[in-house]
Amino acid sequence: MDIFRYDGHLTDEALAALVTGESLDETARLEMAEHLAFCDLCLQRYTDALTGTELLTPEHSCRESLLRRIRARAARLFLNRYATAAAAVALALTMLWGSAGVTLPERIPLPEDRPTVSDGLRKWNESLDSAMSGLNDFFDGLGQWTPSAQGGN
Ligand SMILES: [Zn+2]
Repeated sequence: MDIFRYDGHLTDEALAALVTGESLDETARLEMAEHLAFCDLCLQRYTDALTGTELLTPEHSCRESLLRRIRARAARLFLNRYATAAAAVALALTMLWGSAGVTLPERIPLPEDRPTVSDGLRKWNESLDSAMSGLNDFFDGLGQWTPSAQGGN
């Protein structure tokens, strides 16, 4: 069994023998250990062979499923957003059409004896006239007052 390839790295058979623990002579083991001490490429190959985690190629690309999921999510977002808007519009139209049957009275009827502004002004003028006449009567009475008329003794 050849331990080294033509380019100086370990052969696959040698790495497999090292991993499986096949019987190798002591010189081959030393040479392989010495090579693994400085060669990063062979060390990586040896580590991958030990863990059994060589890079695997996926059976099918995840690109298609990702695009499908993105499209489904976008459609769901679109549906949620416009379903809410449609519900709001439907509610507004229902309220609008529902209120069309209700008619408000044109004019609220007022009681007949409700005072108007002109009535208030007239009453205010009348009370002002009576106050002025009362004030005139007071001053007239004041002019007729004399100290002799008040005496009495
Ligand atoms: Zn190597």
